[in-house]
Amino acid sequence: MITKFVKEAQAGKINLVEHTEKALEEAEKISKEYRYVTAWADAVERAKELQEQVTKGTAHGRLFGVLISVKDNICVKDVESTASSAILKTYKPVFNATVIQKCLNEGAIILGKTVQDEFGFGGFAVNTGKGYEKPLNPFDKKRATGGSSGGAAGLTKKATFPHIALAESTGGSIADPASFCGVVGICPTYGRVSRYGLIDYANSLDKIGTMALDIDDAALLLEIISGKDAHDSTSAELPVPSLDTAGAVNGLKIGIVKEAFAEGVDNNVRKSVMEAIYKLEQKGARRIELSLPLSMKYGLAAYYTLAMTEASTNLARYCGLRYGATDQLTGTYNEFFSRVRTNNFGEEAKRRLLLGTFARMAGYRDAFYTKAAQVRTKMLQEYAAAFKQVDVLITPTMPIVAPTFDEIKKLTPLQNYAMDILTVSPNLAGLPHISIPCGESNGLPIGLMVTGPHFAEQKIIQVAKAHGK
Ligand code: GLN
Repeated sequence: MITKFVKEAQAGKINLVEHTEKALEEAEKISKEYRYVTAWADAVERAKELQEQVTKGTAHGRLFGVLISVKDNICVKDVESTASSAILKTYKPVFNATVIQKCLNEGAIILGKTVQDEFGFGGFAVNTGKGYEKPLNPFDKKRATGGSSGGAAGLTKKATFPHIALAESTGGSIADPASFCGVVGICPTYGRVSRYGLIDYANSLDKIGTMALDIDDAALLLEIISGKDAHDSTSAELPVPSLDTAGAVNGLKIGIVKEAFAEGVDNNVRKSVMEAIYKLEQKGARRIELSLPLSMKYGLAAYYTLAMTEASTNLARYCGLRYGATDQLTGTYNEFFSRVRTNNFGEEAKRRLLLGTFARMAGYRDAFYTKAAQVRTKMLQEYAAAFKQVDVLITPTMPIVAPTFDEIKKLTPLQNYAMDILTVSPNLAGLPHISIPCGESNGLPIGLMVTGPHFAEQKIIQVAKAHGK
């Protein structure tokens, strides 16, 4: 879809200014109804610039004229970027994240910022910060979009103009909402994409990835943003392969993770993913059942311990002095600092900051943080052993379809975290994964997830494409 549009735009067959104005109008209408966008970039101004390039014959770039929406935790110059938290309200970055610069270099138009759980703290996008509305599921407004990249997934589903979304995952925030909103979401290997300009949740886990209606479009954007970046020492010094692959599974060994189809997984979800696997077998894949006992048992505990610990150190910088929310300078420093944070962080952010601080305190560190880090190492070994037997792993993305807001309200924090059972382990291990729609349950989309070894983005995309063929 995108490639054809880009060619036509470069050839001057599309008036980019008119196109962008129309797209903006549509996005505004969608967002009013479903609450996906938190801030708008000057897209029309940019479209004019690109249209001039067409006139001058200098139009170029693989995203020429394509509208890209950006999860709110990725910095866009001069556009309010807050990770959907009141504590960062009014913060307009003076620079572009590396991924944004790469998109602009390819001729993209930045549309605006999409709403998320505050700093990424959630799996349903119901933990948006104070003053930020919760996004509504494109299939049913009584249901959640999934999170934390809820606005990105919802807008991707609803927009009828060519559009790709930049999203981010710490423990499943791309795959989860992609699954609940019926779109494609790709989360790359940790280190494949630069995190420069990303508002951190947990540095050892955060990954920027993409969402689109179509696998090819999501893959194209991922290819563009991948690669070593001098601004991010954790970005990998590896060549970026073309992610434009044909779908094929012939001769591939597909690992079926037994625990991911066990009790607790909705029957329709299980059935639908199993049917998809059967279809892949018909196309020449070999299925191998295997087990990931350690990851499935301890993944959640290890993930939440590490993620909250890192978050609690990251968010210490929001103290009312440097950026975002502030208050009258009265009282002692501690009083001032506490007041700003009390007034501006949401409930879930506070819970995580307290738990994370606790887990890394002297006296508790070895029991919690260090232990969780050890479990993570063991999980990496478990995955490495699995990938000696199979090429990729297939599981449902989420154990359920999008829940209603009422259902979510009844969950305890622990039950809430448990919904991430299938996504946290690949994220902890830094493995690339893709979620694609594979069926429906009562009119709601079901997601299938393909996980591959480190830096095997090409392979997971290849398998995912074979499903759609
Ligand atoms: N649901 C997970 C969490 O709350 C993952 C969120 C994310 O990837 N940002 O931490």
